[in-house]
Amino acid sequence: MAPVEVPNVLRRTDPSKSPAPMVFDSPHTGLLFPADFRPAIPLEHCERVADWFVEELFRAAPDHGAILVEALFRRAYIDPNRSERDLDLSMIEPGWPDPVDLTEKTARGASLIWKMIDGQIPIYDRTLSVAEVRNRIETYWQPYHTALKAALDETYARFGTVFHVDCHSMPEFGDPRWGDQGKRRADFIVGTRDGTTASPAFTEVVVETLRASGYSVSLNGKFKGVELIRRYAHPATRREALQIEVNRGVYMDETTLTRSERFGATQAAITRMIAALERFTRDAAG
Ligand SMILES: [Zn+2]
Repeated sequence: MAPVEVPNVLRRTDPSKSPAPMVFDSPHTGLLFPADFRPAIPLEHCERVADWFVEELFRAAPDHGAILVEALFRRAYIDPNRSERDLDLSMIEPGWPDPVDLTEKTARGASLIWKMIDGQIPIYDRTLSVAEVRNRIETYWQPYHTALKAALDETYARFGTVFHVDCHSMPEFGDPRWGDQGKRRADFIVGTRDGTTASPAFTEVVVETLRASGYSVSLNGKFKGVELIRRYAHPATRREALQIEVNRGVYMDETTLTRSERFGATQAAITRMIAALERFTRDAAG
């Protein structure tokens, strides 16, 4: 089916064949900077904070019965993979009326509205107004969550179960803020918030099919998954979710920000994983 868009906010692509109980989402591949972003630094710094080409790597999902939801706005503007309460009030004029819950992302300058790039380059030279923060939440963050939740709820209503795959990419090598400076990361890191968002069986299909294609895969560690899987997973009622971080070293050149010669092979391996998940999730729905 043709994708449905909320202009500048999100795109939803429905299955091109009979649906399977799978939903994929790509929250960090949007390209739009809304006009009121007004950073104090050049846009190219802010453009680097993105999961380049990830929506393309997972493009086969609707051909295997999944709904695919993608953000169209940039993560540096507002981050869908954070709680709306994860707000650094030092960035906002006094008087924010809603509750806040800080997380470990706040100290890295990477909460709902990012304060810094790479934890060290301040994005703004002004405080944001309450109205502009509220607009980012209501016009971008909330519709993305509403669309993702609708996709999950529709699928659950139809099958009595839903399997959500939240798709990301990570730098090839570690950095000091993550405590793994200079170390090459695994080709894929699968996050289940330490086993709380997905069953071992679902997790194993992802891990084993990627390994069968010759990739190294690790589980949890420093990339356990954040808000998008935390918020909507509930394995006890058969709503499962996991996060996949693809190492940029297996599909792109991080200096030139272009696809590498390995892009096609990695995309094909991901497509095989999606096909295995289709079989697994159809069986699970029974
Ligand atoms: Zn991401």
